[in-house]
Amino acid sequence: MTMLQVSVVVPCYNESEVLGAFHSALIAALEPTRQSFEICYVDDGSSDRTRRQLSELAGTDPRVRYTSFSRNFGKEAAMLAGLRMSRGNAVVLMDADLQHPPELVPRMMELHRHGYDQVVAQRDRAGESALRTALSRVYYRLVRRCMDVEVVDGAGDFRLLSRRAVDSVLSLPESNRFSKGIFSWIGFDTASFTYRNVKRAAGQSKWGGRNLLNYGIDGLLSFNSRPLRLAIHTGLCLFLSALVYALWIITNVALYGVDAPGYTTLMTSVVALSGIQLATLGVIGEYVGRIYHEAKNRPHYVVRETDTSRAAFPVGGPSSAAFAQSRMES
Ligand code: UDP
Ligand code: MG
Repeated sequence: MTMLQVSVVVPCYNESEVLGAFHSALIAALEPTRQSFEICYVDDGSSDRTRRQLSELAGTDPRVRYTSFSRNFGKEAAMLAGLRMSRGNAVVLMDADLQHPPELVPRMMELHRHGYDQVVAQRDRAGESALRTALSRVYYRLVRRCMDVEVVDGAGDFRLLSRRAVDSVLSLPESNRFSKGIFSWIGFDTASFTYRNVKRAAGQSKWGGRNLLNYGIDGLLSFNSRPLRLAIHTGLCLFLSALVYALWIITNVALYGVDAPGYTTLMTSVVALSGIQLATLGVIGEYVGRIYHEAKNRPHYVVRETDTSRAAFPVGGPSSAAFAQSRMES
């Protein structure tokens, strides 16, 4: 085991406005704990000064390391890269926008010392629009019913993972990564506490309504095949009701003779059935698309540069090959 006690992993995408403030706040929170720590920044292909700032930080402070992607690969990929970089006995994942208060990190470390493998800081929904809160509520209720793993409202990516929890997360090879589900899937003893939601310190959120919707669909689909099962159930129910209806018509004809059948009934059933068929096809298509995506087995990201001297990357695996290649080119 390494002697390093804590690694803090921070994905950053166009965060140059807050990065300085975040870094000072984090150092101010970590230094008094007297634990050895490193900060692993991952620049997710930012187009602003983020990358330059990170390389400056890494140049002046040996506790800072960074990896920079060749383009924007998304937060999930950035967190994965950070986890792979991390060497500490415990790893804290947090956002760079000060929405995850650095002063909570010592408390998470304390809980970890009490034997918890995962410590989750859960935010409340203070200051959020009523619509977004309501939509999230509905979504989490749906997810709880549909998913095989438990996902808790407000429990985001601000969490501490023990080394063995990190190793378990890294052992999952899928390319469609939905980390909320993954963290829940790996299990282990989990402690959580709630903190008051804060607004982002500066810069802009990268999550518009559409991104959130897609993220939601990802969450529903990446952990089970229940939507497919639902499609089968709906199909069966419809088939049975059609059978009953047919029997009723046949009996009618037998008893009262031939009757001109209702045009409305016909149209309604055609429209309803084709709607359901299209939706089911969509669900199946979504899964097939995912299989296609997984089958390509592409690396999760491509690295543009790192803090060259101290970069420690895992050996083997497609991403480290891409990493090696991109390092040779740079
Ligand atoms: N982020 C990232 N890649 C992306 C989008 C976001 O690394 O494509 C990072 C971002 O820099 C921040 C964190 O993920 O540190 C959370 O992003 P944001 O604050 O935009 O999300 P929100 O808090 O609004 O959910
Ligand atoms: Mg944020």
